[in-house]
Amino acid sequence: MPTPYPPLDETRAQIAAAAKIAGRDPAAVTLIAISKTRTAEEIAPLIAAGQRDFGENRVQEAEGKWPALVAAHPDIRLHCVGQLQSNKAEEAVALFDVIHSVDRPSLVEALGKAMAKGGRRPDCFLQVNIGEEPQKGGCALADLPSLIEAARAAGLPVIGLMAVPPADIEPAPYFALLAKLAARHDLPGLSMGMSADFPTAITIGATHVRIGTALFGARA
Ligand SMILES: *Cc1c(COP(=O)(O)O)cnc(C)c1O
Repeated sequence: MPTPYPPLDETRAQIAAAAKIAGRDPAAVTLIAISKTRTAEEIAPLIAAGQRDFGENRVQEAEGKWPALVAAHPDIRLHCVGQLQSNKAEEAVALFDVIHSVDRPSLVEALGKAMAKGGRRPDCFLQVNIGEEPQKGGCALADLPSLIEAARAAGLPVIGLMAVPPADIEPAPYFALLAKLAARHDLPGLSMGMSADFPTAITIGATHVRIGTALFGARA
């Protein structure tokens, strides 16, 4: 029996409510608990409550805490949601089940080689710099068609698009733009929505929401 963890129940209820508004099946929305900066001790109650999808933004940090947890719970799926350096591609492919931050041709190439060599093929989201912000990761809107082509040519299992909209403005137009781009390129996955805005993202079609603060509390 899972051990209840109230913030998880609350978040699941909010996901279900947003899906209902949009006439969507809540089961079509994957809740990824973003566990960056959290210790194994903080993560354990979520695992005990039945949560199985977790996201990290640093390869090294993830390598430090996840192998032991995954050994104990082999059905855990690990998602990479942070900027990825090409020289970490092999480690990322070995550790993660889904990579949400594929955003440039050099990384596509490195991941393609790592997958061919390692025999694992994590699902990939291509990250789009949806608000065209210079400081943010993600490919430029104009570069998305060529990045999709390169990723498919390199044999990456591309399942969707990911974005982090600009802070402090209404995110819905950015979510809608990402959804439109995904539809245009026949990509079923939409990784969008964080603690502050996931219900909105779900009404606009998010298939994967990435939630940290609402589950673990504020980060230090
Ligand atoms: C940290 C992070 C999140 C989670 O953010 P919260 O506001 O804590 O829910 C989601 N996506 C990415 C890419 C992140 O880096």
